[in-house]
Amino acid sequence: MKKLYPTFADSSNYRGLTQNVNRLSGKESDTLKASVLERDNYKCSYCNFHAEEWQTINYIDGDSSNNKKSNLTTACPMCNLVLNTPLGCQIEGIVELYQVSAYDQNKIVQLTRKMRAEGKKDDEIRRSLGLKIKVPFKMNKRYLNSLFAFITSWKGSYGDVEEALEYGYSH
Ligand SMILES: [Zn+2]
Repeated sequence: MKKLYPTFADSSNYRGLTQNVNRLSGKESDTLKASVLERDNYKCSYCNFHAEEWQTINYIDGDSSNNKKSNLTTACPMCNLVLNTPLGCQIEGIVELYQVSAYDQNKIVQLTRKMRAEGKKDDEIRRSLGLKIKVPFKMNKRYLNSLFAFITSWKGSYGDVEEALEYGYSH
């Protein structure tokens, strides 16, 4: 698994759950995205979650203008919110940030998905994960990198994120 931590891609527009593979026409972008998903066997590179739907494409080097296939990797909707913290925290308002956790970020995503599928409430999940000292979002990578992101069960501002996350919890 690739190491996961709260961050964001430079010059992304954050307006959708799926990052645009920028500066390419729609068809080119779709083809590239499909080939990355196929190469990765539809498995999230950060938490190993496998799904035929709703997977997104992440820029490994954080540069959303670098569309080389070697720079693109598959990310599930939950990891996508961590990798695009402004989307998760500011636009959707779904993600909380903490200074302290009993687990690394990859494990936080895996355990959150598992416990939510089991019907556990957010408070219970936060406690199990040992999340402490909630802090505000800042548009600063160095600040974000040291924090832990928790994806709450709040539905968010946009329907597509809700649908994508629900899919992740039921599979
Ligand atoms: Zn994932």
